[in-house]
Amino acid sequence: MAYQISDDCIACGACAAACPVGAISEGDGKYVIDADTCIDCGSCEATCPVGAPAQA
Ligand code: SF4
Ligand code: SF4
Repeated sequence: MAYQISDDCIACGACAAACPVGAISEGDGKYVIDADTCIDCGSCEATCPVGAPAQA
């Protein structure tokens, strides 16, 4: 199961920089994870200041 980013995201971009496979990109008002690219490493969850990414 890939990670997903909730609406709590404040679009800071920290997770995108931390993702080792480039699965995170800026969406409409928040960042989004490409489920097909995500390898479930958890770096985005560990990096996010508001706890927005979580395993779906
Ligand atoms: Fe990227 Fe890892 Fe987060 Fe998946 S869990 S989006 S691979 S940082
Ligand atoms: Fe959104 Fe958290 Fe990623 Fe920042 S680190 S863009 S708040 S999900």
